[in-house]
Amino acid sequence: MSYAEITARIHETCQQLGRAEGSVHLIAVSKVQPQDRVHAVLAAGHRLFGENYVQEAQAKWPAFRAEFGPVAVHMIGPLQTNKAKAAVELFDAIHTVDRPSLAEKLARLAQERGKSPAVFVQVNTGAEPQKAGILPETVDDFIATVRTMDLPLQGLMCIPPEAEDPAPHFAMLAQIAARNGLSGLSMGMSSDFEAAIAHGATHIRVGSAIFGARTYA
Ligand SMILES: *Cc1c(COP(=O)(O)O)cnc(C)c1O
Repeated sequence: MSYAEITARIHETCQQLGRAEGSVHLIAVSKVQPQDRVHAVLAAGHRLFGENYVQEAQAKWPAFRAEFGPVAVHMIGPLQTNKAKAAVELFDAIHTVDRPSLAEKLARLAQERGKSPAVFVQVNTGAEPQKAGILPETVDDFIATVRTMDLPLQGLMCIPPEAEDPAPHFAMLAQIAARNGLSGLSMGMSSDFEAAIAHGATHIRVGSAIFGARTYA
């Protein structure tokens, strides 16, 4: 698949669903991809990317931003509290706020800097023990806590369990967002972004379908 093919499929899906195409933001997930593949998607005009690792993003994005001008980069991987400062300097949004200590740290940094990346709360919709994210039964309380912190809370994010139909997880995330008055829904990846759009995704995170398979060193 390719960038052009993915944008065409998003266009078609939005048309079929009667959704405005501008209501779905494609985050091109460029983690561990070769520079030339990322460069090609930038050259095609795309300006929203996702990264999982602070150090990798620090090494990659200053040069691309110097070459292409403003590019939005969103953090979609687990964020250690001791990397929060570097993260807020680099990223336009953080999709993986999953514990009070991280939210507190981000709020402190926001106060110091007078600005903050947009924030998404990660929800562990499948209650998987190995997966990050707030459990569904405590997420309303966590959202209320984040709201006391003066952070730009934009929405919720989930990664459904690998071996399951993702649709019920997307539906659950949309329901949690609706009852908490949140508009942002970060959900859907290469294999299921169309289902995510059907359930109201505002941010889909697509990597391998755009760039090809990732090869980890
Ligand atoms: C890597 C990653 C993606 C992209 O996955 P693909 O299957 O390659 O589209 C999306 N979201 C998160 C959180 C990721 O870590």
